Amino acid sequence: MRFFEEVLDIGNKLINWYRENKRELPWRNTTDPYKIWLSEIILQQTRVQQGLPYYEKFTNQFPTINDLADASEQDVLLLWQGLGYYSRARNMHYTAKMIVDKYNGNFPENHNEILALKGVGEYTAAAIASFAFDKAYPVLDGNVFRFISRLFGIEKPIDTSTGKKEITNALDLIFNTQKPALFNQAIMEFGATHCTPKKPKCDTCIFNMQCEALGSKKVMSIPVKKGKTKILQVNHTYMCFIHDNKTYIEKRTAGIWKNLYQFPLIEEDIKPDGITKIINRYLKTPLKFEISEVFDSTHILSHRKIQASFYTIHLDTSPIFLKNNIFEIPLADLTTRYPVSILTQNYLKRLNL
Ligand code: SF4
Repeated sequence: MRFFEEVLDIGNKLINWYRENKRELPWRNTTDPYKIWLSEIILQQTRVQQGLPYYEKFTNQFPTINDLADASEQDVLLLWQGLGYYSRARNMHYTAKMIVDKYNGNFPENHNEILALKGVGEYTAAAIASFAFDKAYPVLDGNVFRFISRLFGIEKPIDTSTGKKEITNALDLIFNTQKPALFNQAIMEFGATHCTPKKPKCDTCIFNMQCEALGSKKVMSIPVKKGKTKILQVNHTYMCFIHDNKTYIEKRTAGIWKNLYQFPLIEEDIKPDGITKIINRYLKTPLKFEISEVFDSTHILSHRKIQASFYTIHLDTSPIFLKNNIFEIPLADLTTRYPVSILTQNYLKRLNL
């Protein structure tokens, strides 16, 4: 950065820009910590447009933290269905119950107490402390990382402790301690809508005379990342048994989809000519069946690529399964009562329930 005065002025420029350019979003019109926390958890790794209907559904169905705490985990997961990263929903529900028990339903105001809540990291704690209580904690999300590293020309990888330290120091230089909530909203919005990853609007940028990355023609190569997460490929074969408008599901007990429901699953790639053997391994006595279709789908998570096949298997008699955690439900209940992964949701859309 070229001049000290310019550095000091960046915060004011951001706030002025924000006042003129901000998007109207419901969680920006409240200082209710419950609603701010809700929005922040929903928006973790989710785009605003995708998160917005979920925020509305949750605030309608659970207007207060007590309502969320009183809900069953199954209802919370059902409402969350489709957003992914289900541990966020499980932690959110756990935390709501904890706040009701420990703090009598009053959201803690102290930054360290907020940070100690399950599912709340540094970024979310700073967001809640500043937006709800106007406390001077700067937020550092992916959008802020990108904007700061470009503006200051920081080329140290942002996923290393030295890179993070340099960005934190630069952020501290421009942070407006008098208007923390406004400053934080402004810098996040600027990164999200103006200094975007692929098409930053440098031509019309209020910082284009100061931006180090633009000056050195390195906008598209900053921020730098050291290592990309290795994506592991896994295979899932699901068996959707159907008999007399009933189907058979189990509850997952571990992993990212813990407490969601699924059709009996084998974590292997089973080809159509091998599925008969597998089906009979699931049933106590062999039954007559017919496979009406196979639905193949690929699902990419942050660290895993799932290659899935769903077999629709029509049985002529009610089955008895060898695994005793598989239970029978009316087929139609699957879309209304049992939360499932997006992978299963896509298959159910094809089944046309
Ligand atoms: S000039 Fe371009 S890269 Fe630099 S802050 Fe503005 S939008 Fe971002």
